[in-house]
Amino acid sequence: MSYQTVNPATGETLQKFDEMTTSELEIAVSRAAACFQTWRDSSFAQRAKIVAEAASLMESRVDEFARLATLEMGKLYAQAQGEVMLSVSILRYYATNAERFLATEQLDVRDGTARVESSPLGILFGVQPWNFPYYQLARFVAPNLMAGNVVIVKHAGSVPQCALAFEALWREVGAPSGLYTNLFASYEQVNSIIDDPRIKGVALTGSSGAGRSVAARAGQNLKKSTMELGGSDPFIVLADADIDKTLKWAMVAKMNNNGQSCVAGKRFIVDASHADSFLERFAAAMSSLHPGDPMEITTTLGPLSIEAALEILEAQVVKAVEAGATVVTGGKRLDRAGSFFAPTILTDITPDNPAYHEEFFGPVALFFTSVDDDDAVRLANDSDFGLGCSIFTEDEQHGERLASRIESGMVFINHPTWTAADIPFGGVKTSGYGRELSPAGIHEFVNKKLVRVLPIDAPA
Ligand code: NAP
Repeated sequence: MSYQTVNPATGETLQKFDEMTTSELEIAVSRAAACFQTWRDSSFAQRAKIVAEAASLMESRVDEFARLATLEMGKLYAQAQGEVMLSVSILRYYATNAERFLATEQLDVRDGTARVESSPLGILFGVQPWNFPYYQLARFVAPNLMAGNVVIVKHAGSVPQCALAFEALWREVGAPSGLYTNLFASYEQVNSIIDDPRIKGVALTGSSGAGRSVAARAGQNLKKSTMELGGSDPFIVLADADIDKTLKWAMVAKMNNNGQSCVAGKRFIVDASHADSFLERFAAAMSSLHPGDPMEITTTLGPLSIEAALEILEAQVVKAVEAGATVVTGGKRLDRAGSFFAPTILTDITPDNPAYHEEFFGPVALFFTSVDDDDAVRLANDSDFGLGCSIFTEDEQHGERLASRIESGMVFINHPTWTAADIPFGGVKTSGYGRELSPAGIHEFVNKKLVRVLPIDAPA
């Protein structure tokens, strides 16, 4: 069964959902296509009314939404509430600003006049991950609905109730039928959706493996896609960093969402002048986390989202150790019910160790020592991934100079990689392509249509 609610804190299976049939899928796509015929001509004010009402309804039900996320994927409850409010802010941001972002641009041309209009494309297909079960939807849906597109979404199999709750929002605020559709689709159906000529673009957030499959299919169909994929973000501590402040951020960077964030700090690259003491204090903080029910306020370590994720992480750690890595703390699952993995730090990871190149999606930190700034930049860039990066220094200009040399889509100075409605999000290399959020996010799936007026006669 691919769509089911399993509480990862207990291992208990709570509810199962059937995949949709071929004819249900056809009905959903036809409805979306019909909806686009009217939605494309709606005014920004009409679109904003619906998107803003969805935001307000979501805000009024923050606890209900948050509880479902905690239940289905184990996010600490306070963080789940935070995610719901972040999603609300993204919906509001595009409801307020989309018209300005998509305003027709008059070009400065030598002859006649020329303008570029941003017109909608049609039905967009989103494939989304479980780790931020609402935020990922909001950042795909809000800009694209405001641009006049309609959306269909395949959410991750482990968060079906979150998927249904988000879909219900749109019905409840009176959105036209077909504007937002959740699909309990199989991988085979994902391919057939991408092949469908009514689908005009594909946005995937997920692992690089899923990205390769979905991007290849979109490419075969010559369809525009955006790929928000995995990362192995460097967390760089320079010689002039304030170590007390940086250590607190290191814990946030590593452990937000129980370590399951694409932009979590994954490779800690610490200047040799601080490395030993930093590692000792970081290990003490990691091992003092308190596992438990993610609904409880006293819990600081929740479970991994699904048992299979824990098994993958555990196998990665075993392989890393076999290839020469040293376990500083943790290294195995906790001896309790549920999918709990001990907060872990690995050192002595050489380039021939598979761990050097992989994403560890959970509470596992890889620790490296750099001899100077050049060495830190070299280590940071020596990765197939290029999503985010953070640099810690008491001298912001020092951090900014280094930021220019980092090969990633985002660099944060004195703060872990983070997200907000008004800043762009996305990566380079195998972390994907395209941007979500900010003005950039609304320009991905629109037709930048040139309209040229040139009143001249044809040459004789
Ligand atoms: P995942 O296994 O790639 O799944 C993501 C979505 O893709 C799910 O809906 C999944 O469906 C679907 N999927 C997977 N393989 C597919 C295939 N071959 N064909 C069609 N659909 C497919 O990723 P995840 O484990 O849910 O999420 C963790 C990954 O996402 C990490 O690598 C993380 O870094 C990345 N991520 C990136 C960003 C970003 O913005 N760059 C944000 C969040 C997460 P099922 O659930 O049904 O398998």
